[in-house]
Amino acid sequence: MARRPVKVVVLGGGTAGWMSAASLARMLSGLVEVELIESEDIGIVGVGEATLPHIRSFVESLGIDENAFMKATHATYKLGIDFRDFGRIGENYIHPFGSFGEEVAGVGFHHYWLELQARGMTEPIGSYSLAVAAAQANRFRPPTRDSSLASTFGYAYQFDATLFGPFMREFAIGIGVRRTEGKVVEVRQDPVTGDVTTLVLEGGREIEGELFIDCSGFRSIMLGQTLGEGWEDWSQWLPCDRAAALPCEFVRDEIEPYTRCIAMPAGWRWRIPLQHRIGNGYVFSSAFISEDEACSVIAGVVEGRALADPRVLRFRAGRRTRSWNRNVVAVGLASGFLEPLESTSIYLTQMAITYLIELFPREGEIDPRDRAEFNRLVDMEYDRVRDFLILHFHATTRNDSPFWDHVRTMEVPDTLAGKMELWRETGRVEKYSDGLFYDASWIAVYLGQGVMPRRHDPRVKVPSAEQIGRAMGALQDAIRGEVAAMPGHREYLTARAERLAVSQ
Ligand SMILES: Cc1cc2nc3c(=O)[nH]c(=O)nc-3n(C[C@H](O)[C@H](O)[C@H](O)COP(=O)(O)OP(=O)(O)OC[C@H]3O[C@@H](n4cnc5c(N)ncnc54)[C@H](O)[C@@H]3O)c2cc1C
Repeated sequence: MARRPVKVVVLGGGTAGWMSAASLARMLSGLVEVELIESEDIGIVGVGEATLPHIRSFVESLGIDENAFMKATHATYKLGIDFRDFGRIGENYIHPFGSFGEEVAGVGFHHYWLELQARGMTEPIGSYSLAVAAAQANRFRPPTRDSSLASTFGYAYQFDATLFGPFMREFAIGIGVRRTEGKVVEVRQDPVTGDVTTLVLEGGREIEGELFIDCSGFRSIMLGQTLGEGWEDWSQWLPCDRAAALPCEFVRDEIEPYTRCIAMPAGWRWRIPLQHRIGNGYVFSSAFISEDEACSVIAGVVEGRALADPRVLRFRAGRRTRSWNRNVVAVGLASGFLEPLESTSIYLTQMAITYLIELFPREGEIDPRDRAEFNRLVDMEYDRVRDFLILHFHATTRNDSPFWDHVRTMEVPDTLAGKMELWRETGRVEKYSDGLFYDASWIAVYLGQGVMPRRHDPRVKVPSAEQIGRAMGALQDAIRGEVAAMPGHREYLTARAERLAVSQ
């Protein structure tokens, strides 16, 4: 007997809403009927320009052509993030989408690097990463699919967030998602089970469903407001609660294949080069600087002519206690938010959608075990990101402003304290089998921000220092050769007209 499609109602047409609707319609084709409600009067957050490499598998899994996607969203390529002034003013490092050297005889490369450091070598760890070297040289080409040096990195996109949602909307409607314009003014629940049954629009129209995806942004209309799901506040560790966003014109010829995050006295600012402009924003803590002051600071530091007035966005760091309660699954800002320091929000949205598809209630019957598993996985993702973000603030020697004094001296979550202790004592990074940010990411931030371990793996003493030095020199030479053979980022980007939104 043919299965009856499950009626899924998505509330919200921002990035999260359209990503969810498109994925469910594509991946569960025939098993779901998807309707999305959005309100032009309310609008979308419309920021979120930097992504992680996982976005590529999202685009690919929907069968979307990469060049068409880049053209539609005015995208550039991204090899990592350049962090400036975080550990100490005047210092910078790149957190690459790629590895540092290779494990040798089961021992991580950074242990060999630490051994040579102890013997006086001064080359930064970044000089053993192809992604870092390519980014520093403003060069780009996609990695190879073999096991050579040229395969040791990944890439993501930097795109215009106001264009990503509409692109996904067009795609989703093309594969059968029904779009309804209107403002939801009432959420009805079953008096016995408490499940959501109906969304009522202004004007009285009623939309019924079996599974509801709450993508209503910070409002969290169904999960937060209607079901009253609790909120875990993390602002004691991540005190930034505002951003002043300000796009500007390009003034240079180069388009950097990376995002820049520059620490500021009361937070940090982003700089994201797109095809047609540069995205900028000051992410700050309102306990340490006023909105007006932050706006004038960002207006004073952007390189090119400002393309708008600064726009202030307000948020809180944290997440809902459960992202899936009853028959409501929150995705995107409705489920939580962590500041955009490591471009993780769209990733968290993507992972929630992936887990939901894996655990999707067949024929609408929700198995509580699937719901619990979904919540466990989403929590795990958020918790991992949270600790990693806190590290960027806490691992600092900065004492030049009350903000940095606060984050430097604050108590961090036990989970992070344990990871930092392990690193400081042994040079080891806690192993994950899933979730975000593996060894290379932690190593990049620890070493980039001057957190040096007291010891490292004793096995590196087996080869002589000369042998290690020779092997590392050969790796640097190979990286230099690879980078020299890569085209410039702008050159690569503009080589194919079909990925260009504007003539370069
Ligand atoms: C300052 C800042 C910088 C960021 N930078 C990054 C970044 O670099 N990388 C990254 O990955 N992420 C970033 N993010 C996060 C990113 O912007 C969000 O993940 C993304 O925009 C998803 O938002 P959303 O769809 O959940 O919510 P929204 O964009 O707010 O969409 C909510 C939707 O719900 C609808 N809605 C709400 N109430 C109703 C109602 N009553 N009736 C009908 N419709 C309703 C709205 O109309 C809208 O369509 C950033 C966020 C902020 C605040």
